[in-house]
Amino acid sequence: MNRVRDRKPQEDLQGAAAAPGVAIGPAVCLRGHGVEVLRVPIRNSGLDREVARFGAAVRSVEAELEATESRIAETFGSDLASIFHAHSVILRDSSFARRIDRMIRSDRVNAEWAVQAVADDLGEKFAQVKSQHLRERGEDLRDVTRYLLRALAGKRSSPGVGEDFDRNVVVVSHELTPDEVLRLGRRGAVGFAIEVGGANSHTAIVARALDVPLVTGIVEITNRVADDDPVIVDGEEGRLTLHPTPETLDEYRRLRRRRRRNEEALSTAARDLPARTVDGAEVELLANVELPDELDDVQRFGAAGIGLYRSEFLYLEKSPELPSEEEHVAVLRELLETLSPQPVVVRTLDLGGGKVASGLVPQDEENPVLGQRGIRLTMAREDVFRVQLRALFRAAPFGSLRIMAPMVTAVEEIRALRVLCDEVCAELEAEGAEHRRDVELGAMVEVPAAVMIARQLAAEVDFLSIGTNDLIQYTLAVDRTNEYVADLYQPLHPAVLTMIQLVVEAGRRQRVPVALCGEMAASPECVPLMLGLGLRQLSMSPRGIPRVKDVVRSLDVCDAEELARRCVAASTAEEVGALLAAFGATAVHTRTRVHTG
Ligand code: PEP
Ligand code: MG
Repeated sequence: MNRVRDRKPQEDLQGAAAAPGVAIGPAVCLRGHGVEVLRVPIRNSGLDREVARFGAAVRSVEAELEATESRIAETFGSDLASIFHAHSVILRDSSFARRIDRMIRSDRVNAEWAVQAVADDLGEKFAQVKSQHLRERGEDLRDVTRYLLRALAGKRSSPGVGEDFDRNVVVVSHELTPDEVLRLGRRGAVGFAIEVGGANSHTAIVARALDVPLVTGIVEITNRVADDDPVIVDGEEGRLTLHPTPETLDEYRRLRRRRRRNEEALSTAARDLPARTVDGAEVELLANVELPDELDDVQRFGAAGIGLYRSEFLYLEKSPELPSEEEHVAVLRELLETLSPQPVVVRTLDLGGGKVASGLVPQDEENPVLGQRGIRLTMAREDVFRVQLRALFRAAPFGSLRIMAPMVTAVEEIRALRVLCDEVCAELEAEGAEHRRDVELGAMVEVPAAVMIARQLAAEVDFLSIGTNDLIQYTLAVDRTNEYVADLYQPLHPAVLTMIQLVVEAGRRQRVPVALCGEMAASPECVPLMLGLGLRQLSMSPRGIPRVKDVVRSLDVCDAEELARRCVAASTAEEVGALLAAFGATAVHTRTRVHTG
């Protein structure tokens, strides 16, 4: 199809802001096919590789089916095993594989798309025949298709995201998983625009970590944008501009330069100033980190250490392989040595519930966020978890390490973790491997159950950290990634504030420090409330630190405490919002007076 790009009128598509910044570039559309298969255009030079990738997937499914068939035959007899034999027959039918090969080449598409399209076509034919036997072959075909898609995903954990990818493109898709954003961002995508997913999703968090702008909630996006369409992503305003006029392009280029200069100025001004309130309360502003590349930002924006290292991103990056013990040690050592003596809080892998690394996370859960995620998954996969724990204790001598468990709901989980840590250390001891045993152990509080037993938890750990992203989700029963209920995801809901208050109180009683590491920590409007509730450690994306520090330095704790009392007593999130806005306006006024003397 010939497009006369320059003549198309400019269109502004409004969505929601999810990762700030401005991206300008040609669009690449990953089109949804069924639920999970995306159509990715493949360049001529990448076609052989794509066909080879499909061949490798066929061979791996063949081997898997053969093994399953003989295992089942041994245990249950040949009748049951014949099901798997039927699957092998379909797979070996050379016309099936040939059609897929042909489609990859003729349509220049990724293997996943071709597999699904050929299977859909054959499936329709099977469905129309009268013979029961042939209809059953249709079901076998669906199974084989699933195996193939899984194997293709296993070869590269994000289905549909081809290797053969231009740099400096804006990726447009119905939705993207966190690992897809990670891989695409690593390969040079400069912006993302998607239809589905909230600003608090891990997808958005990864985009922010990569410093790649993301807008979400743009309706029907893949039907409105075509490959190579010139687009602008404005991650601050939550807007995608399609076919921008030269004037709009100029305007955005200027805006991008201005924003970068402002950010630079803010970080330079704030970096060496203490995060201390007007009346002398010290506040620790720490960084949330997903990727070791962010270390520069941690230092540039003046963080007092890392309050949350989301270690699962190493697994997402390496998937389908698991990171080795040595790889873990190398990453941890770099973080610890670079920041020493500042603290580095490493959260043990928090996979599951949307963060999927192939082979590790169950794929068939009805409600993954209520399923095997966080500490539940690691306890179920002790073999995998031990590798990470060994690496943590081996890396500990290189700095000030703290270990933190995610998704804790019961004291038993912490006790089981301690037992495992002891076993791992004993093992290292026996091997004569250098390590450090006296590492502080903490729990994330991100589920109402953990809030309600915060006192008992605090008695078992060295520190607590409130993960408001999930705490809001689980308290308000609002999926943090679901844009249909995005307006119900209310950080200022009085229930959430009371939860925070309860945890801070429990920590105070047990003399255990309590941090807050959800996205809320980076909201300048919320900072007075959080200090007023008694928090003195806030962990956020490094870029958020200068603004938050600015607010901390303008506050008086007594005023903040009075504000917190009124907020907790309020009936609705709206009332809390109004109280914060009024306080903010007064504070800005006061700040202006202070600065002008
Ligand atoms: C949280 O839930 O607030 C949190 C910090 O963890 P994550 O966003 O990775 O789930
Ligand atoms: Mg969480």
